[in-house]
Amino acid sequence: MRTSEIHRRWLDFFATKDHEIVPSAPLVSSDPSILFTIAGMVPFIPYIVGTEKAPYPRAASVQKCIRTNDIENVGRTTRHGTFFQMAGNFSFGDYFKQGAIDYSWEFLTTSQEGGGLGFDPERLWFTVWEQDEESYRHITEVIGLDPQRVVRLPREEIFWDTGQPGPAGPCGEWHYDRGPEYGPDAVTGSVPEWPGDEKGEDRYIEIWNLVFDQYLRGEGSGKDYPLLGELEQKSIDTGLGVERVAYLLQGVDNMYEIDQIFPVIEKAQELSGRVYGADGEDDVHLRIIGDHVRSALMLVADGVRPGNEGRGYVLRRLIRRAVRSMRLLGYSERSMPALLPVSKSLMVESYPELEAAFARISDIVYAEEEAFRRTLETGTSIFDGVVGAVKKEGGRVLPGEDAFRLHDTYGFPIDLTMEMAGEVGLQVDADAFRSAMQEQRERARADAAAKKTGHTDTAVYHRLLSQRGGEIPFLGYTEDTVATTVESVLVDGQLVDVVQAPAQVEVVLASTPFYAESGGQLADQGQISLTGGGLIEVDDVQRPVRGLIVHRGRLLEGEVASGVSAIATIDAERRGAIARAHTATHMVHESLREELGHGATQAGSENSPGRMRFDFRYGQAVPKSVLEQIEGRVNTLLQDELTVTDQQMSLDEAKALGAQALFGEKYGEIVRVVSIGGDWSRELCGGTHVASTGAIGTVQLMGEASIGSGVRRVDALVGLSAYRHQAKEHALVSQLTELLKVGAAEELPERVRSLTQKMKDMEKQLATLRGQQLQAEAATLVESASTVAGVRLLAHDVGEGVGAGDLRTLALDLRSRLGEDQPVTVAVAGHEGGRAALVIATNAAARELGLAAGAILRGAAEAMGGRGGGKPDMAQGGGGEPTRIPSALSAVREAVETARRA
Ligand code: ATP
Ligand code: MG
Repeated sequence: MRTSEIHRRWLDFFATKDHEIVPSAPLVSSDPSILFTIAGMVPFIPYIVGTEKAPYPRAASVQKCIRTNDIENVGRTTRHGTFFQMAGNFSFGDYFKQGAIDYSWEFLTTSQEGGGLGFDPERLWFTVWEQDEESYRHITEVIGLDPQRVVRLPREEIFWDTGQPGPAGPCGEWHYDRGPEYGPDAVTGSVPEWPGDEKGEDRYIEIWNLVFDQYLRGEGSGKDYPLLGELEQKSIDTGLGVERVAYLLQGVDNMYEIDQIFPVIEKAQELSGRVYGADGEDDVHLRIIGDHVRSALMLVADGVRPGNEGRGYVLRRLIRRAVRSMRLLGYSERSMPALLPVSKSLMVESYPELEAAFARISDIVYAEEEAFRRTLETGTSIFDGVVGAVKKEGGRVLPGEDAFRLHDTYGFPIDLTMEMAGEVGLQVDADAFRSAMQEQRERARADAAAKKTGHTDTAVYHRLLSQRGGEIPFLGYTEDTVATTVESVLVDGQLVDVVQAPAQVEVVLASTPFYAESGGQLADQGQISLTGGGLIEVDDVQRPVRGLIVHRGRLLEGEVASGVSAIATIDAERRGAIARAHTATHMVHESLREELGHGATQAGSENSPGRMRFDFRYGQAVPKSVLEQIEGRVNTLLQDELTVTDQQMSLDEAKALGAQALFGEKYGEIVRVVSIGGDWSRELCGGTHVASTGAIGTVQLMGEASIGSGVRRVDALVGLSAYRHQAKEHALVSQLTELLKVGAAEELPERVRSLTQKMKDMEKQLATLRGQQLQAEAATLVESASTVAGVRLLAHDVGEGVGAGDLRTLALDLRSRLGEDQPVTVAVAGHEGGRAALVIATNAAARELGLAAGAILRGAAEAMGGRGGGKPDMAQGGGGEPTRIPSALSAVREAVETARRA
């Protein structure tokens, strides 16, 4: 039964029992003190605790839940998801214990045709509080459950409370027995030995908890409090794990193999080439991926965004753990764009709102993967180096300073470092990490300021500046070409009198039109021609110390000596494109402040030819609609031809005018203020700008993303680059319009949607056909079984276009067709997309003879050049060469012979 069907049946069942059907509350509430909704009862707490009167006497819901305390369990137990759906029925002063038990029994055991779940009553166990006679008698006498399967537990194990004085009460819990293959028998009787789901977690699975809200409790810690008396309004609150029921009903091993999750795992297998079931650790990673991708999808859908604390951090951790698991499976490409849509397609039936929201959700998730990839790339190699060094010394502790360096310089989260260290048997010195964090904060700031000088030794530049006794005049606000003289020449940071071409040189001029990189504006480029025929191609201009402008470039011809005359000319086209970008940056900045408030302050920028980047402090992503508004606003103002002016004034005057200054930047006494449109935008700025916004042409915002703790970045194309980009997109759209044969571009989305739908339908049809074909073949295939050393052996190559899933079904089908009377071993192989797959199944009689599917498979997969493994009754492998399938099948035959001879 599909998971969405369980969901639907639940609501239908309780609707017929007069329950108000209440839609799931979001995963996050407006109350910031509650991290996530962790149970179905959360939205009903006021009615249960009695602070509000319930608007209905009984209700039912299927609630989305997130439990972060189960993160570590994911993939390791069979039953814990970070996201799961809890189905609940509630009574507020209406029916009590007997009603709750009756409904649960009816829903669990009514046949599937009759609308229930159709669980075998003989497999159901019930746990009750040892003093709860009423429940015990009802379940054994009225329901008639065998007392051997009713376990009475002490208060510590089966009581519910809120942790403070108020309502409390015993629970009754339904468990499903998966049978002796999964663990030891429970012993009931006078001293019950109940493995519960702690030790015997694989066998007795808790599926449904009924909370009987019966007593008023007093002060006390833990479960040690007095029961003061019975509540006036008794309530019922229950929770059934939809995923747990799903995996039991779907006959799979654990909750990650259900229909709402497993296709994500299959996608991850396909990407990574690893085979589920072949290796214990790989399986854990595959399950983590299946679980976390879904949780991320649902969290982002409910408005959570990746961040560094609280809910955002949990989401970030889930996405990063999934990405990292993919990498540990050997896949280091982008994986979310392949995995997330699969998860969406699985969840959309129960949560149709995912469809429309998916563009937004995927933007956020993909951007987070992208950010993490950048972090990982640098961080991992540094981490490996540190681990190597520690291990070489025989150490067990990863120094806190290194953990800090990873965090500070490479943005590696500390918990990731700790997790990765744990995996290689090291511990992180957390105390040292914290103190390094404290100490180096200051130093990091100082370092950042000194970064741009190129040469670490700035003494020579200081000397040059003091020798000339004043700043070098920058004439580039008005001039593109300046006649000047060479003041000094440096090669490799050393002063020289003269140097011949070709050479890499640094040149200081008496005055210059070249803008040195600063305030986010890139340096000018151009040429310096020298008297006597020398020519320097300038590619970078820096200000190693305030007031000194140094031109860096290549001396192509002749020689350069200090004292010669020079004509300095900038590349005016490049400068123009940079100026357009810089003015555009001011305009985007002001428009952002208009839309997002004055908290959105500048954190950095870069103005390059035809392109701008603007970083600003803002705690969350800027919605697409707001970005569109900003883009519209800026482009309207371009058309208005606002004038751009600059003025020198004292810092105090500038502040009084409300000019924007860059936080943390040092300004001199006299500053330059650039204004656009009078007082619309005013910024302290030394950069070069256009004279009127009309010169900019077009500004096109390309996107917005987080670049780390609370800082966002917008990118935009400016002027001609924006035009070229639009022209390219336009050409693309025309091409698509033609290819997809639609009349107008507007019809494209609909056409693509219908094509994708068609493709999906065809894939489905194909899968059905293939299934039918295999079924038909199975009937004749059985005939081809041979007898090898007393074992019925059926080894067959199905050929191309058959995946592992189909092979599994076929193998099971063949095994059951061959019956239980004689030992049977079935081996079926096939290939798809150049990859071979092999499935082996044995029946009980064969296993008794020592024929274990897992062991046989390992040898056979090797013969094929792949790998795999599994349980004694069923195993699966793949990888290898399709041409070597025959050798794999002979290996199976040999294994059977050898095992029988031995
Ligand atoms: P367990 O001991 O197995 O972790 P629990 O005692 O935490 O379960 P409850 O808090 O009683 O479970 O939640 C009610 C029901 O929700 C459980 O009976 C179970 O079916 C389901 N459930 C609880 N936690 C999870 C989870 N992490 N993933 C999937 N289902 C869960
Ligand atoms: Mg739990």
